[in-house]
Amino acid sequence: MTDSQQTKRLHVIIAGAGLGGLTLGAALLQKGFDVDIYEQSPELREVGAGLWISANGSRVMDALGLKDAMEAINLPPHDRVVRFWKSGEQRSVYNRDANASKADHTLVQVLRAELQRILYEAVVKIKPDAVHFGVRSTGARTVGGRAQLIFEDGSHAEGDVVVGCDGAHSRVRQSIFGPAPARYTGANAWRGIAPMHKLKPQHREPLASTWVGPTAHVTTYPVQRDGEEFVSFSAQVDSETWQTESWSERGELPDALKDFEGWHQDILDLFINSENLFRWGLFVRDPLERWSEGRVTLVGDACHSMTPYLGMGVNMTMEDAYVLVRCLEKTPGDVEGALKRYDAARIERANRTKAKSLEMLRIFHSSELANSESAWPYIEKQWSPQAVRERYDWLLAYDATTVEI
Ligand SMILES: Cc1cc2nc3c(=O)[nH]c(=O)nc-3n(C[C@H](O)[C@H](O)[C@H](O)COP(=O)(O)OP(=O)(O)OC[C@H]3O[C@@H](n4cnc5c(N)ncnc54)[C@H](O)[C@@H]3O)c2cc1C
Repeated sequence: MTDSQQTKRLHVIIAGAGLGGLTLGAALLQKGFDVDIYEQSPELREVGAGLWISANGSRVMDALGLKDAMEAINLPPHDRVVRFWKSGEQRSVYNRDANASKADHTLVQVLRAELQRILYEAVVKIKPDAVHFGVRSTGARTVGGRAQLIFEDGSHAEGDVVVGCDGAHSRVRQSIFGPAPARYTGANAWRGIAPMHKLKPQHREPLASTWVGPTAHVTTYPVQRDGEEFVSFSAQVDSETWQTESWSERGELPDALKDFEGWHQDILDLFINSENLFRWGLFVRDPLERWSEGRVTLVGDACHSMTPYLGMGVNMTMEDAYVLVRCLEKTPGDVEGALKRYDAARIERANRTKAKSLEMLRIFHSSELANSESAWPYIEKQWSPQAVRERYDWLLAYDATTVEI
Protein backbone atom coordinates (compact mmCIF):
# COMPACT_ATOMS: atom_id res chain seq x y z
CA MET A 1 0.00 0.00 0.00
CA THR A 2 1.33 3.48 -0.85
CA ASP A 3 1.74 6.18 1.81
CA SER A 4 -1.10 8.24 0.37
CA GLN A 5 -3.51 5.27 0.51
CA GLN A 6 -2.52 4.77 4.15
CA THR A 7 -3.14 8.47 4.85
CA LYS A 8 -6.68 8.09 3.60
CA ARG A 9 -7.25 5.17 5.91
CA LEU A 10 -5.83 6.75 9.06
CA HIS A 11 -8.60 7.73 11.44
CA VAL A 12 -7.79 10.47 13.96
CA ILE A 13 -9.94 10.93 17.07
CA ILE A 14 -9.78 14.43 18.60
CA ALA A 15 -10.90 15.50 22.08
CA GLY A 16 -12.10 19.13 22.03
CA ALA A 17 -13.49 21.38 19.28
CA GLY A 18 -11.66 24.53 20.40
CA LEU A 19 -9.22 26.41 18.22
CA GLY A 20 -6.67 23.58 18.26
CA GLY A 21 -9.10 20.70 17.63
CA LEU A 22 -10.76 22.51 14.74
CA THR A 23 -7.46 23.64 13.14
CA LEU A 24 -6.17 20.09 13.39
CA GLY A 25 -9.45 18.62 12.11
CA ALA A 26 -9.54 20.93 9.09
CA ALA A 27 -5.88 20.26 8.21
CA LEU A 28 -6.27 16.47 8.52
CA LEU A 29 -9.47 16.32 6.46
CA GLN A 30 -7.88 18.45 3.74
CA LYS A 31 -4.99 15.96 3.55
CA GLY A 32 -7.33 12.97 3.23
CA PHE A 33 -7.37 11.63 6.80
CA ASP A 34 -10.63 10.65 8.47
CA VAL A 35 -11.49 12.66 11.60
CA ASP A 36 -13.99 12.61 14.47
CA ILE A 37 -13.99 15.39 17.06
CA TYR A 38 -15.68 15.01 20.45
CA GLU A 39 -16.56 18.25 22.24
CA GLN A 40 -17.99 18.51 25.76
CA SER A 41 -20.08 21.64 25.11
CA PRO A 42 -23.51 21.20 23.52
CA GLU A 43 -22.54 23.74 20.83
CA LEU A 44 -19.66 26.02 19.85
CA ARG A 45 -19.12 28.25 22.87
CA GLU A 46 -19.25 32.00 22.37
CA VAL A 47 -16.38 33.47 24.38
CA GLY A 48 -16.74 37.22 23.90
CA ALA A 49 -13.15 38.20 23.40
CA GLY A 50 -10.69 39.19 20.74
CA LEU A 51 -7.61 37.33 19.64
CA TRP A 52 -4.71 38.36 17.55
CA ILE A 53 -3.15 36.08 15.05
CA SER A 54 0.46 36.86 14.17
CA ALA A 55 2.36 35.91 11.01
CA ASN A 56 3.31 32.45 12.32
CA GLY A 57 -0.37 31.62 12.90
CA SER A 58 -1.49 33.27 9.66
CA ARG A 59 0.82 30.99 7.65
CA VAL A 60 -1.21 28.03 8.93
CA MET A 61 -4.54 29.69 8.15
CA ASP A 62 -3.28 30.52 4.64
CA ALA A 63 -2.18 26.90 4.11
CA LEU A 64 -5.72 25.81 5.06
CA GLY A 65 -7.09 28.08 2.31
CA LEU A 66 -8.63 30.43 4.88
CA LYS A 67 -6.85 33.66 3.92
CA ASP A 68 -9.98 35.28 2.43
CA ALA A 69 -12.18 34.11 5.30
CA MET A 70 -9.71 35.67 7.76
CA GLU A 71 -9.57 38.91 5.82
CA ALA A 72 -13.38 39.10 6.01
CA ILE A 73 -13.36 39.06 9.83
CA ASN A 74 -10.13 41.00 10.40
CA LEU A 75 -9.98 44.61 11.55
CA PRO A 76 -6.28 45.31 10.96
CA PRO A 77 -4.39 47.81 13.14
CA HIS A 78 -2.51 50.64 11.43
CA ASP A 79 0.03 50.70 14.21
CA ARG A 80 0.97 49.05 17.47
CA VAL A 81 1.67 51.38 20.37
CA VAL A 82 2.70 51.36 24.03
CA ARG A 83 0.78 53.82 26.21
CA PHE A 84 1.32 55.33 29.62
CA TRP A 85 -1.40 54.21 32.05
CA LYS A 86 -2.21 57.62 33.54
CA SER A 87 -2.14 59.96 30.54
CA GLY A 88 -2.63 57.67 27.55
CA GLU A 89 0.45 59.18 25.83
CA GLN A 90 1.79 56.73 23.29
CA ARG A 91 4.90 55.53 21.42
CA SER A 92 4.81 53.48 18.25
CA VAL A 93 6.42 50.09 18.77
CA TYR A 94 7.22 49.09 15.22
CA ASN A 95 7.31 52.19 13.06
CA ARG A 96 10.20 53.96 14.71
CA ASP A 97 12.82 52.26 12.61
CA ALA A 98 11.75 50.90 9.26
CA ASN A 99 14.72 48.53 9.17
CA ALA A 100 14.27 47.37 12.73
CA SER A 101 12.95 43.93 12.01
CA LYS A 102 13.15 41.30 9.34
CA ALA A 103 10.13 39.42 10.62
CA ASP A 104 6.56 40.08 9.51
CA HIS A 105 4.82 41.84 12.41
CA THR A 106 1.36 41.94 10.78
CA LEU A 107 -1.47 41.26 13.21
CA VAL A 108 -4.88 39.87 12.28
CA GLN A 109 -7.41 40.98 14.91
CA VAL A 110 -10.52 38.85 15.21
CA LEU A 111 -13.23 37.83 17.58
CA ARG A 112 -12.51 34.41 18.97
CA ALA A 113 -16.01 33.15 18.14
CA GLU A 114 -15.60 34.28 14.52
CA LEU A 115 -12.30 32.43 14.19
CA GLN A 116 -13.88 29.32 15.67
CA ARG A 117 -16.78 29.58 13.21
CA ILE A 118 -14.43 29.77 10.22
CA LEU A 119 -12.48 26.73 11.38
CA TYR A 120 -15.68 24.81 12.11
CA GLU A 121 -16.99 25.58 8.63
CA ALA A 122 -13.72 24.34 7.10
CA VAL A 123 -14.19 21.04 8.95
CA VAL A 124 -17.86 20.41 8.18
CA LYS A 125 -17.43 21.43 4.55
CA ILE A 126 -15.42 18.22 4.10
CA LYS A 127 -17.10 16.00 6.71
CA PRO A 128 -20.50 17.38 7.80
CA ASP A 129 -20.86 15.05 10.80
CA ALA A 130 -17.23 15.26 12.03
CA VAL A 131 -17.99 17.19 15.25
CA HIS A 132 -19.90 15.42 18.03
CA PHE A 133 -21.17 17.90 20.60
CA GLY A 134 -22.07 17.20 24.22
CA VAL A 135 -19.57 14.34 24.62
CA ARG A 136 -17.12 14.65 27.48
CA SER A 137 -13.96 12.58 27.41
CA THR A 138 -12.16 11.40 30.54
CA GLY A 139 -8.91 10.08 29.09
CA ALA A 140 -7.18 8.12 26.37
CA ARG A 141 -5.11 4.95 25.99
CA THR A 142 -3.32 2.77 23.48
CA VAL A 143 -4.69 -0.78 23.40
CA GLY A 144 -3.54 -3.52 21.06
CA GLY A 145 -2.03 -1.13 18.52
CA ARG A 146 -5.14 1.11 18.45
CA ALA A 147 -5.92 4.40 20.20
CA GLN A 148 -9.03 4.92 22.30
CA LEU A 149 -10.67 8.10 23.60
CA ILE A 150 -12.68 7.21 26.69
CA PHE A 151 -15.97 8.95 27.50
CA GLU A 152 -17.72 9.75 30.76
CA ASP A 153 -20.22 6.91 30.39
CA GLY A 154 -17.39 4.38 30.04
CA SER A 155 -17.76 3.92 26.27
CA HIS A 156 -14.98 4.88 23.87
CA ALA A 157 -14.17 5.85 20.28
CA GLU A 158 -11.35 3.97 18.59
CA GLY A 159 -8.99 5.11 15.86
CA ASP A 160 -5.36 5.10 14.73
CA VAL A 161 -4.43 8.16 16.81
CA VAL A 162 -6.06 10.14 19.64
CA VAL A 163 -5.18 13.83 20.02
CA GLY A 164 -6.06 15.71 23.21
CA CYS A 165 -7.03 19.25 22.18
CA ASP A 166 -9.01 19.61 25.38
CA GLY A 167 -7.39 22.76 26.75
CA ALA A 168 -5.46 23.65 29.88
CA HIS A 169 -7.35 21.19 32.11
CA SER A 170 -6.83 18.37 29.59
CA ARG A 171 -8.16 15.01 30.73
CA VAL A 172 -6.21 13.34 27.96
CA ARG A 173 -2.96 14.82 29.35
CA GLN A 174 -3.87 13.71 32.86
CA SER A 175 -4.61 10.19 31.72
CA ILE A 176 -1.25 9.71 30.00
CA PHE A 177 1.09 11.81 32.12
CA GLY A 178 -0.71 12.17 35.48
CA PRO A 179 -1.78 15.36 37.25
CA ALA A 180 0.03 18.62 36.41
CA PRO A 181 -0.47 21.00 39.33
CA ALA A 182 -1.15 24.62 38.35
CA ARG A 183 0.71 27.44 40.12
CA TYR A 184 -0.81 30.90 40.47
CA THR A 185 1.36 33.54 38.74
CA GLY A 186 0.29 36.41 41.00
CA ALA A 187 -1.89 38.06 38.35
CA ASN A 188 -5.55 38.06 37.42
CA ALA A 189 -6.90 38.69 33.93
CA TRP A 190 -9.93 40.72 32.92
CA ARG A 191 -11.42 40.44 29.43
CA GLY A 192 -14.29 42.01 27.58
CA ILE A 193 -15.52 43.69 24.42
CA ALA A 194 -17.06 47.17 24.40
CA PRO A 195 -19.27 48.23 21.47
CA MET A 196 -17.51 51.04 19.60
CA HIS A 197 -20.65 53.21 19.37
CA LYS A 198 -20.70 53.54 23.17
CA LEU A 199 -17.10 54.76 23.33
CA LYS A 200 -15.45 58.13 22.75
CA PRO A 201 -14.14 58.93 19.24
CA GLN A 202 -10.49 58.26 20.14
CA HIS A 203 -11.33 54.56 20.60
CA ARG A 204 -12.04 54.33 16.87
CA GLU A 205 -8.36 54.76 16.01
CA PRO A 206 -7.20 51.51 14.40
CA LEU A 207 -4.46 50.86 16.96
CA ALA A 208 -3.31 47.80 18.83
CA SER A 209 -2.39 49.39 22.16
CA THR A 210 -0.67 48.06 25.23
CA TRP A 211 -1.19 50.36 28.20
CA VAL A 212 1.47 49.80 30.84
CA GLY A 213 1.46 50.67 34.53
CA PRO A 214 3.32 49.68 37.70
CA THR A 215 1.07 46.76 38.67
CA ALA A 216 -1.09 46.14 35.61
CA HIS A 217 -1.20 46.32 31.82
CA VAL A 218 -4.07 46.41 29.34
CA THR A 219 -4.07 45.41 25.68
CA THR A 220 -6.82 46.95 23.54
CA TYR A 221 -7.68 46.66 19.86
CA PRO A 222 -10.71 46.95 17.60
CA VAL A 223 -12.52 43.84 16.30
CA GLN A 224 -15.71 43.38 14.30
CA ARG A 225 -18.68 41.04 13.94
CA ASP A 226 -20.98 41.41 10.93
CA GLY A 227 -19.84 45.00 10.45
CA GLU A 228 -20.42 45.94 14.09
CA GLU A 229 -17.21 47.20 15.71
CA PHE A 230 -16.00 46.62 19.26
CA VAL A 231 -12.89 47.33 21.28
CA SER A 232 -11.56 44.09 22.71
CA PHE A 233 -9.52 44.42 25.88
CA SER A 234 -7.48 42.15 28.04
CA ALA A 235 -6.22 43.51 31.34
CA GLN A 236 -3.74 41.78 33.62
CA VAL A 237 -3.36 42.98 37.18
CA ASP A 238 -1.15 41.88 40.09
CA SER A 239 -3.26 40.39 42.83
CA GLU A 240 -2.53 38.41 45.99
CA THR A 241 -5.84 36.62 45.74
CA TRP A 242 -6.71 34.49 42.79
CA GLN A 243 -9.77 33.52 40.83
CA THR A 244 -10.61 30.21 39.25
CA GLU A 245 -8.57 29.29 36.17
CA SER A 246 -11.54 29.47 33.81
CA TRP A 247 -12.12 31.81 30.91
CA SER A 248 -15.88 31.86 31.43
CA GLU A 249 -15.75 33.07 35.04
CA ARG A 250 -17.77 36.30 35.29
CA GLY A 251 -16.29 39.38 36.95
CA GLU A 252 -18.00 42.36 38.58
CA LEU A 253 -17.58 45.95 37.38
CA PRO A 254 -16.85 47.47 40.84
CA ASP A 255 -13.96 45.01 41.28
CA ALA A 256 -12.54 45.97 37.87
CA LEU A 257 -12.79 49.68 38.64
CA LYS A 258 -11.05 49.10 41.96
CA ASP A 259 -8.23 47.19 40.25
CA PHE A 260 -7.75 50.10 37.81
CA GLU A 261 -8.17 53.04 40.18
CA GLY A 262 -6.16 56.04 38.92
CA TRP A 263 -5.97 54.73 35.32
CA HIS A 264 -6.91 56.87 32.34
CA GLN A 265 -10.66 57.27 31.78
CA ASP A 266 -10.38 55.57 28.35
CA ILE A 267 -9.50 52.32 30.12
CA LEU A 268 -12.25 52.70 32.73
CA ASP A 269 -14.73 53.38 29.90
CA LEU A 270 -13.90 50.01 28.38
CA PHE A 271 -14.88 48.20 31.58
CA ILE A 272 -17.98 50.35 32.06
CA ASN A 273 -19.27 49.76 28.53
CA SER A 274 -18.23 46.16 28.05
CA GLU A 275 -20.84 43.69 26.77
CA ASN A 276 -19.44 41.14 29.20
CA LEU A 277 -16.74 40.96 31.85
CA PHE A 278 -14.68 37.85 32.45
CA ARG A 279 -12.13 37.53 35.21
CA TRP A 280 -9.83 34.64 35.94
CA GLY A 281 -6.54 33.76 37.57
CA LEU A 282 -3.44 33.23 35.45
CA PHE A 283 -1.81 29.92 36.28
CA VAL A 284 1.19 28.05 34.90
CA ARG A 285 2.16 24.39 34.87
CA ASP A 286 5.63 22.93 34.61
CA PRO A 287 6.67 22.38 31.01
CA LEU A 288 6.17 18.84 29.73
CA GLU A 289 9.14 16.92 28.38
CA ARG A 290 6.96 14.63 26.28
CA TRP A 291 3.59 15.16 24.65
CA SER A 292 3.05 11.70 23.18
CA GLU A 293 2.60 8.24 24.62
CA GLY A 294 1.93 5.31 22.33
CA ARG A 295 -0.73 6.46 19.87
CA VAL A 296 -1.96 9.34 22.01
CA THR A 297 -0.68 12.91 21.77
CA LEU A 298 -1.57 16.52 22.67
CA VAL A 299 -1.99 19.86 20.90
CA GLY A 300 -2.36 23.41 22.21
CA ASP A 301 -3.13 24.45 25.77
CA ALA A 302 -3.33 20.77 26.73
CA CYS A 303 0.46 20.55 26.43
CA HIS A 304 1.68 24.13 26.82
CA SER A 305 -0.92 26.44 28.38
CA MET A 306 0.87 29.76 28.74
CA THR A 307 0.39 33.28 30.04
CA PRO A 308 -1.02 35.66 27.42
CA TYR A 309 1.83 38.20 27.56
CA LEU A 310 3.27 37.44 24.12
CA GLY A 311 -0.14 36.73 22.50
CA MET A 312 1.11 33.34 21.39
CA GLY A 313 -1.29 30.71 22.86
CA VAL A 314 -3.40 30.26 19.77
CA ASN A 315 -0.54 30.84 17.35
CA MET A 316 1.48 28.04 18.97
CA THR A 317 -1.61 25.84 18.89
CA MET A 318 -2.02 26.36 15.15
CA GLU A 319 1.66 25.60 14.61
CA ASP A 320 1.32 22.35 16.63
CA ALA A 321 -1.70 21.25 14.60
CA TYR A 322 -0.05 21.79 11.25
CA VAL A 323 3.26 20.17 12.20
CA LEU A 324 1.42 17.15 13.64
CA VAL A 325 -0.46 16.65 10.38
CA ARG A 326 2.79 16.85 8.41
CA CYS A 327 4.39 14.26 10.71
CA LEU A 328 1.45 11.84 10.27
CA GLU A 329 1.50 12.43 6.55
CA LYS A 330 5.22 11.68 6.36
CA THR A 331 5.02 8.21 7.94
CA PRO A 332 1.36 7.15 8.04
CA GLY A 333 2.43 3.53 8.39
CA ASP A 334 4.38 4.35 11.59
CA VAL A 335 2.08 6.39 13.83
CA GLU A 336 4.20 6.10 16.96
CA GLY A 337 7.27 7.19 14.99
CA ALA A 338 5.29 10.15 13.61
CA LEU A 339 4.34 11.20 17.14
CA LYS A 340 7.98 11.01 18.27
CA ARG A 341 8.89 13.20 15.30
CA TYR A 342 6.14 15.63 16.33
CA ASP A 343 7.48 15.82 19.91
CA ALA A 344 10.99 16.44 18.60
CA ALA A 345 9.79 19.20 16.28
CA ARG A 346 7.61 21.10 18.71
CA ILE A 347 8.36 20.74 22.42
CA GLU A 348 11.46 22.91 22.69
CA ARG A 349 9.89 25.83 20.82
CA ALA A 350 6.62 25.69 22.73
CA ASN A 351 8.34 25.46 26.11
CA ARG A 352 10.64 28.35 25.25
CA THR A 353 7.64 30.46 24.25
CA LYS A 354 5.90 29.55 27.49
CA ALA A 355 8.95 30.61 29.54
CA LYS A 356 9.50 33.84 27.59
CA SER A 357 5.83 34.71 27.90
CA LEU A 358 5.97 34.42 31.68
CA GLU A 359 9.13 36.58 31.82
CA MET A 360 7.18 39.40 30.15
CA LEU A 361 5.18 40.00 33.31
CA ARG A 362 8.27 41.54 34.95
CA ILE A 363 8.63 43.88 31.98
CA PHE A 364 4.97 44.87 31.72
CA HIS A 365 4.57 45.54 35.44
CA SER A 366 7.43 47.63 36.78
CA SER A 367 7.74 50.23 39.52
CA GLU A 368 9.55 52.38 36.90
CA LEU A 369 6.16 52.87 35.28
CA ALA A 370 4.65 54.60 38.30
CA ASN A 371 5.42 58.14 37.12
CA SER A 372 6.18 59.65 33.74
CA GLU A 373 9.76 60.76 34.60
CA SER A 374 10.97 57.18 34.98
CA ALA A 375 8.33 55.60 32.71
CA TRP A 376 9.41 57.05 29.38
CA PRO A 377 13.09 56.09 29.59
CA TYR A 378 11.90 52.63 30.69
CA ILE A 379 9.46 52.33 27.77
CA GLU A 380 12.10 53.55 25.29
CA LYS A 381 14.47 50.86 26.54
CA GLN A 382 12.04 47.95 26.85
CA TRP A 383 10.30 48.63 23.53
CA SER A 384 13.35 49.79 21.59
CA PRO A 385 13.53 48.38 18.03
CA GLN A 386 16.25 46.00 19.19
CA ALA A 387 14.30 44.78 22.24
CA VAL A 388 11.20 44.18 20.11
CA ARG A 389 13.26 42.35 17.50
CA GLU A 390 14.81 40.06 20.11
CA ARG A 391 11.43 39.40 21.70
CA TYR A 392 9.38 38.62 18.60
CA ASP A 393 11.41 37.86 15.48
CA TRP A 394 12.17 34.23 16.35
CA LEU A 395 8.48 33.68 17.12
CA LEU A 396 7.11 35.34 13.99
CA ALA A 397 9.60 33.92 11.50
CA TYR A 398 8.62 30.27 12.15
CA ASP A 399 6.80 28.57 9.30
CA ALA A 400 4.93 25.43 10.42
CA THR A 401 4.19 24.54 6.81
CA THR A 402 7.85 24.19 5.82
CA VAL A 403 9.89 23.77 9.01
CA GLU A 404 12.08 20.68 8.97
CA ILE A 405 10.42 17.69 10.63
C1 LIG B 1 -10.09 35.47 26.05
C2 LIG B 1 -8.84 34.90 25.47
C3 LIG B 1 -8.05 35.67 24.61
C4 LIG B 1 -6.88 35.13 24.09
N1 LIG B 1 -6.10 35.90 23.26
C5 LIG B 1 -5.07 35.33 22.58
C6 LIG B 1 -4.34 36.05 21.58
O1 LIG B 1 -4.59 37.24 21.32
N2 LIG B 1 -3.35 35.39 20.90
C7 LIG B 1 -3.06 34.09 21.17
O2 LIG B 1 -2.17 33.54 20.50
N3 LIG B 1 -3.71 33.39 22.13
C8 LIG B 1 -4.72 33.97 22.84
N4 LIG B 1 -5.41 33.26 23.79
C9 LIG B 1 -5.05 31.87 24.06
C10 LIG B 1 -5.74 30.94 23.09
O3 LIG B 1 -7.11 31.23 23.00
C11 LIG B 1 -5.54 29.49 23.50
O4 LIG B 1 -4.15 29.28 23.61
C12 LIG B 1 -6.13 28.55 22.45
O5 LIG B 1 -7.53 28.69 22.45
C13 LIG B 1 -5.74 27.12 22.72
O6 LIG B 1 -6.51 26.26 21.91
P1 LIG B 1 -6.92 24.83 22.44
O7 LIG B 1 -7.67 24.17 21.35
O8 LIG B 1 -5.73 24.15 23.02
O9 LIG B 1 -7.87 25.11 23.68
P2 LIG B 1 -9.35 25.70 23.65
O10 LIG B 1 -9.51 26.66 22.54
O11 LIG B 1 -9.59 26.13 25.05
O12 LIG B 1 -10.26 24.47 23.35
C14 LIG B 1 -10.41 23.36 24.23
C15 LIG B 1 -11.74 22.72 23.88
O13 LIG B 1 -11.80 21.44 24.51
C16 LIG B 1 -13.07 21.30 25.11
N5 LIG B 1 -12.91 20.35 26.22
C17 LIG B 1 -12.29 20.56 27.39
N6 LIG B 1 -12.34 19.47 28.16
C18 LIG B 1 -12.99 18.54 27.45
C19 LIG B 1 -13.35 17.18 27.72
N7 LIG B 1 -13.03 16.60 28.87
N8 LIG B 1 -14.03 16.50 26.76
C20 LIG B 1 -14.36 17.10 25.57
N9 LIG B 1 -14.07 18.39 25.29
C21 LIG B 1 -13.37 19.09 26.20
C22 LIG B 1 -13.45 22.69 25.53
O14 LIG B 1 -14.86 22.82 25.72
C23 LIG B 1 -12.94 23.51 24.36
O15 LIG B 1 -13.89 23.63 23.33
C24 LIG B 1 -6.51 33.80 24.40
C25 LIG B 1 -7.30 33.06 25.29
C26 LIG B 1 -8.44 33.61 25.82
C27 LIG B 1 -9.30 32.82 26.75
